[in-house]
Amino acid sequence: MDLLLEIEKAKELNAFAESFEYDISSKLIHTRDIVVDERVRYQCSYSGCREYGKRLMCPPHTLSVDEFKRVLDRYYLALLLQLKGPIKDNDNWEPETDSWGLKLHEVVYKLEKKAFALGFPFAAGLIGGHCKLCDKCPVERDINASCLHRERARPSMEAMGIDVLSTCKKVGMEIVFVPGEVVWTGLILLA
Ligand code: SF4
Repeated sequence: MDLLLEIEKAKELNAFAESFEYDISSKLIHTRDIVVDERVRYQCSYSGCREYGKRLMCPPHTLSVDEFKRVLDRYYLALLLQLKGPIKDNDNWEPETDSWGLKLHEVVYKLEKKAFALGFPFAAGLIGGHCKLCDKCPVERDINASCLHRERARPSMEAMGIDVLSTCKKVGMEIVFVPGEVVWTGLILLA
């Protein structure tokens, strides 16, 4: 696709992102502003994340950080988005937080599809946090299990080694933690 047309189509996708019924901010970014840091993967592995190894979209089942860096090198343009949701019960925040995470799944999936339709054949979505599409991922029982929702499941930014906080800050979308609110970040690699 011609560069100017590509930018126009990307702007159309950005407008589409903000047309969802949720509280979403989005921004087209250069992929050189995506911060990839091996420490993120190290934290996934050793900081006590309960989902490590338990989801097919989480390490160690995903690409290595180096493999992802090579993939990322082939892109120059991406759409970064943040979905905000209120948390009403601060003493039991996890179910509400997860339900907003599920909405991020939906939005990322729809944006990736739309990007493809707009003429980005390598459009690739990433979610934030672990895959929430199943209560239990079959990989917990069987290391050779296949994903039950391959068409909708996407790896998380953190699983790829993306430093989400630094990336958001770098592009002017700094995440501020506010009690009673959750912010999920997603990414669509475009071209
Ligand atoms: S969609 Fe289900 S089976 Fe696939 S990675 Fe997510 S939790 Fe596992």
